[in-house]
Amino acid sequence: MNSNSNIEQIIEEGLCIGCGLCAGVFPSQVQMQVSPSGHLRPSENTPLSSEQNIHLQSFCPGVVHSGLPSDKISNLENLDPMWGPIETIVRAHSSDAKIRHKAATGGGLTAISLYLLESGQVDCILQVAGGGLKAYFGHSQLSQTSEDIVNGCSSIYASTSPLENLLKILDTGITIALVAKPCDISAVRLLGKKDPRIDQQIKALLTPICGGFFPPFAMEKFLKSVGADESDVESVSYRGEGCPGPTTIRFKNGETISKTYLDFWGTDSSQWHIPWRCRICPDGSGEAADIVSGDTWPNCEPTLEMMENDLGTNVVIGRTSRGAEIINAAIKTNYLSLEGNAKPSDLDYWQPHLVRKKITAEARYAGMRAAGQVGLSTLDLRTDVLKERMNEADYQQELEGTTRRIKIGKHRDDFTE
Ligand SMILES: Cc1cc2nc3c(=O)[nH]c(=O)nc-3n(C[C@H](O)[C@H](O)[C@H](O)COP(=O)(O)OP(=O)(O)OC[C@H]3O[C@@H](n4cnc5c(N)ncnc54)[C@H](O)[C@@H]3O)c2cc1C
Ligand code: SF4
Ligand code: SF4
Repeated sequence: MNSNSNIEQIIEEGLCIGCGLCAGVFPSQVQMQVSPSGHLRPSENTPLSSEQNIHLQSFCPGVVHSGLPSDKISNLENLDPMWGPIETIVRAHSSDAKIRHKAATGGGLTAISLYLLESGQVDCILQVAGGGLKAYFGHSQLSQTSEDIVNGCSSIYASTSPLENLLKILDTGITIALVAKPCDISAVRLLGKKDPRIDQQIKALLTPICGGFFPPFAMEKFLKSVGADESDVESVSYRGEGCPGPTTIRFKNGETISKTYLDFWGTDSSQWHIPWRCRICPDGSGEAADIVSGDTWPNCEPTLEMMENDLGTNVVIGRTSRGAEIINAAIKTNYLSLEGNAKPSDLDYWQPHLVRKKITAEARYAGMRAAGQVGLSTLDLRTDVLKERMNEADYQQELEGTTRRIKIGKHRDDFTE
């Protein structure tokens, strides 16, 4: 290992999420590839200079996770202590019944993307569609037509590098809306503090609420459990065609296997297999985005009855005044159908796993430092205030638990238990 490499250190500490932005910022030195543990990870062919490493540290989500910078918050009165800036929050779904059915939840992100493209506010939507370096991965897709957007809907619960080509795309001069995970959006907001093209050319930052995705070992275990070999897999559809709809594996020979969402994830969210970076994530609620869309099941888990009958309803949040304007305009022009209002505290009920991660974040980072790591830091996410919601004993237990897990290597990309 090159001991001066910040990128290698970030990977070794289990903090790289594979967003690809470092490869976009330093294209002649860093490329994304499938690492020996099966994740999408950056690899340096020429080490970054110290100035480049300082630049990397200012945006990389393996170093810092940011909420909305204060100059983007239009009204401090709308800053919820747990959930961050919220200009508007509603329950809604796509007005097109076919899109609502095909999409991950109710098609909220697809409806808003279609509104932005078809009203001429952006030239393209940069989003994530299935496939890539492995059949079950996702890859970034530049959607130029409404059909591309609809074909790219639903959720990919696997490695993907949505930001690898972002700067190359901005270099062409076009305007876009970006759909990416909360950690990716944090990276883009932070890069935007130095690169004016981010604010000038990205007209809206959209994100799904995110609790994490399947690491490669868990995906391979799942494939084996259904008698499938990775080399025979053509594509995986994780959800959609219902809410949440089935997880369907398509094989190169044309056959398919479908399992339910709960067969895939299991029935207890605390047992989900997710990468270490997701386990210690301080914000899966997309505080840095303009618009967020998520599920509205109690405890974020559909019941068997819901899996059969839920038509799909998103919680849609406008975090900036621009985000709120877009949501209102998408409702007015009938891209999005309003089902009812919501309150920030409804998110406690729909996303309890994210409440826990927000509150425990600082204890976990202290645990990382106690294990000798550099660890993660946060910006504009109030984690220092939220940690006060733990009592001293729980804080200490979380800290020591994290240190213990790091000592047994649980943070490593190749950890498979
Ligand atoms: C990794 C992951 C974890 C999630 N965890 C939660 C959770 O804990 N709680 C919750 O409420 N919801 C979670 N979701 C969100 C949920 O699955 C739906 O995506 C969300 O409700 C939006 O639904 P929709 O119908 O508006 O999306 P759609 O209209 O179907 O649009 C989905 C959009 O997301 C993009 N996309 C798909 N996969 C990815 C990806 N991996 N990275 C970036 N963009 C992607 C697509 O390109 C598309 O533009 C998660 C989604 C992902 C991708
Ligand atoms: S998290 Fe993103 S920017 Fe940071 S090292 Fe990994 S791929 Fe690069
Ligand atoms: S849980 Fe956090 S780190 Fe993991 S993919 Fe989602 S936003 Fe990124």
